[in-house]
Amino acid sequence: MHIYPDDVFVDARAVVRDLRPDEPVILNRPHAAARAARFFIEKFPGKSLYAVKANPSPDLLQVLWDAGITHYDVASIAEVRLARGLLPAAVLCFMHPIKTPSAIREAYFKHGVKTFSLDSAEELHKIVEACRNPETGEPARDLRLAVRLRVSSEYSELSLASKFGCDLTEAPALLQEARQHCDWLGICFHVGSQAMSPFAFVQAIDRTRAAIAEASVVIDMIDVGGGFPSAYPGLEPPPMEDYFAIIARHFEALPIAYNAELWCEPGRALCAEYSSMIVKVEKRRGEELYINDGAYGALYDAAHVDWRFPVAALEDDLRDPVMDFAFYGPTCDDADYMQGPFALPGDIQAGDYIEIGMLGAYGAAMKTGFNGFGNAEQVVVTDEPMMSLYRGDRVRPEIDNVVNLR
Ligand SMILES: *Cc1c(COP(=O)(O)O)cnc(C)c1O
Repeated sequence: MHIYPDDVFVDARAVVRDLRPDEPVILNRPHAAARAARFFIEKFPGKSLYAVKANPSPDLLQVLWDAGITHYDVASIAEVRLARGLLPAAVLCFMHPIKTPSAIREAYFKHGVKTFSLDSAEELHKIVEACRNPETGEPARDLRLAVRLRVSSEYSELSLASKFGCDLTEAPALLQEARQHCDWLGICFHVGSQAMSPFAFVQAIDRTRAAIAEASVVIDMIDVGGGFPSAYPGLEPPPMEDYFAIIARHFEALPIAYNAELWCEPGRALCAEYSSMIVKVEKRRGEELYINDGAYGALYDAAHVDWRFPVAALEDDLRDPVMDFAFYGPTCDDADYMQGPFALPGDIQAGDYIEIGMLGAYGAAMKTGFNGFGNAEQVVVTDEPMMSLYRGDRVRPEIDNVVNLR
C-alpha cells in the first residue's frame, strides 16, 4: 500500500474530487481512534490493551499510543517485532495460547515480553523451558502467566469459542501448576467478537469464578478479553458503559487477591471507526454493482460472514430513492461477492464512487494482493466516521457516551 500521510482531506467527496481514483482509497480518521482510546482509558474500570491483530497499521498504533494506550496484545512474533519497533516503551503481552518455542524465546529475551497466555500444560512447559536462562538453566522468575478459559460465544456475532481455551474440568489443575512457575497469575478469556449484550461477560466471569473456587489459588489478574462491539447497520449495540458497569460489578465479586487487576483487550472497539474506503463502481448488472475492492481486499467479512457495512454514494447527481444492492469484487472468483444488502441510490451506475464505512477493524488490515488487486492509497480525513459509539448521537444515547480529546 502507498501511504501519503501528508494528504489530509475534509471528507471522501473531497478525495474523489481531487484524485478521481481508479483504485480503492483507504480513508483514515486518527481523531476517531484517539477518541475510542480515550473512552476506554477514562471509562473502563481497569487497564485496556489494544489487540494488534484487529489492525496492525503503524500509523494507528502510534495514534493509540499517543492517546494513552500503553499495553498491547500481540499474537505472533511478527506482531511482537512490529509493536516493539514502533513503541519501544510499550508493554507487550503475548496472548496467543499456541506459540513456537523460538517465538517465546525471542519475545522474552529480545523484546522484553513477560506476559504469556496458555491453555494447556504443554504450552506451560514450553514457556517455562523457552524462558530458562540459556547459560545457567535457571528458570525465569519474572513470568506473568494467564490461563485462557474456554467460554461461550452465544452473544457474539463471530465465535471464538471452539479453538482456544481450557475447559472447566482442566482449568483448576492447570491454574495450580501455572501458579508454581510465576508470581503473577491471571485468567483470560474471549467472549467472541462483536458481543451484542453485556451479559456475554457475565457468563464468562461466572465460569472464571467456578475455576478459581475449584483451584483455590491466588489470582492476580482477570482479563476479560475483546469482544466489545462497534456499530454497523443492523448491529447497534447497547451503550458501552453498560458493558463496563456489568464487568466491574461481577469482577468485584470474584474471590481474588484484593489488589487484583482487571484488564480488557479490545480490538474492534478501538479501531473500527478508524478507516473507511472509497471504491469505484466498474459495472452495474441489475441490482449488482461490480466494485474495485472485495472479499480479498478490505471486505473479507462482508463476503465471508455477510457483514453489513454502512455505505454512501459520493456523487451529487444521483436522484433516485435508495434500493438494495449486492457487490461483486474485482477478482475473477465467484466467491468475491458481498450480498449486503447495501442501500444506495437507484440510479447509481458505472464510474460512480461509494464510501464504505467502519472498515478499521478486520477490514483495511486484511487486504491481500490476490489477482493483482491489493493496491490502495491511504489518506487522512477529518470528518466523522459514518457510525460511532463515542460521539453521543446513537439510537440509545447516553448523556456521557462521548469523550473529549485532550
Ligand atoms: C482477536 C482477539 C482480541 C480482540 O477481539 P475484538 O473482538 O476485536 O475486540 C482480543 N484478545 C484476543 C486473545 C484475541 O484473539
